[in-house]
Amino acid sequence: MTAEIIDGKKLAQLVLDEVAKAVVDMSRPPGLAVVLAGDDPASHVYVNGKAKRAKEVGFHAELKLLPADVSEVELLAVIDALNGRDEIDGILVQLPLPAHLNTLRIMAAVDPSKDVDGLHALNAGLLSQGAEGLIPCTPLGCMKLIKSVVPDLTGSHAVVIGSSNIVGKPVAALLLAEQATVTQAHIHTRDTQFICRGADILVSAVGKPGLVRGDWIKPRAVVIDVGTTRVRQPDGKMRTVGDVAFDEAVEVAGAITPVPGGVGPMTIACLMENTLRAARARNAHAAA
Ligand code: NAD
Repeated sequence: MTAEIIDGKKLAQLVLDEVAKAVVDMSRPPGLAVVLAGDDPASHVYVNGKAKRAKEVGFHAELKLLPADVSEVELLAVIDALNGRDEIDGILVQLPLPAHLNTLRIMAAVDPSKDVDGLHALNAGLLSQGAEGLIPCTPLGCMKLIKSVVPDLTGSHAVVIGSSNIVGKPVAALLLAEQATVTQAHIHTRDTQFICRGADILVSAVGKPGLVRGDWIKPRAVVIDVGTTRVRQPDGKMRTVGDVAFDEAVEVAGAITPVPGGVGPMTIACLMENTLRAARARNAHAAA
């Protein structure tokens, strides 16, 4: 039996439609600023995609492109200026940053109420306490994809491979908040394969193509492939692939996300949802 393919594009469009509908009734459009330091081609594609999608849902969107050798002081000044502007509700600093910049210091500079990537320590802390805050976009998207096929996760065993601040840790926190039993694996975990075989929900956020084989997957499990790696094909063309050996996994899993067309589109949709949330909260605060 082959798995249900979770259509990230279709589910993301539903989120985007809801956001666009909400914007029509607002006194001013939500504002999103996307900041990119450096000239990584993939990051340029991502930030352009985010700004384009923001405009499509009716937001005010701005791109701040900074050189790869931008100093921390200069980048902090850009963030500070965006923090101070009323028409900007969301600030996203595209990661990874050039190596000479301290990611945690940069994240800490974003006003937590405008932290639409949910990476400020305040929002990360709220998430770990199960309290309301801005949730990182990819983990939020993963949860929407999982819940589209398993609405109630109570008591299920979820395994998350990867423990980064941006994906692995927040996904695990969100699964725990949904009453799943969560195991987090990482590069030093022994026998990851054995652990994965017990997973009702398996999320892989590593960036190693083909890491998760078909025989790592419990029959009928839900598999969410966050991995995004650009690889050169034998014909010389570049292709984006996930962590999961899709052709094997699809024969075992109950439901699975494709790469591309799974987590990626949902991440962008969740960025728009977060920006709308931030704008609403800021408007309510201003009106109080
Ligand atoms: P990261 O490099 O910060 O973290 C990778 C994690 O994988 C680490 O916790 C590491 O311990 C673990 N790991 C490495 N090798 C392992 C192994 N052999 N077995 C088990 N664990 C192992 O990466 P990240 O920022 O969390 O991103 C992970 C992947 O997700 C990347 O491919 C990235 O491009 C992708 N990503 C996709 C989206 C999207 O929107 N689709 C968003 C963010 C990240």
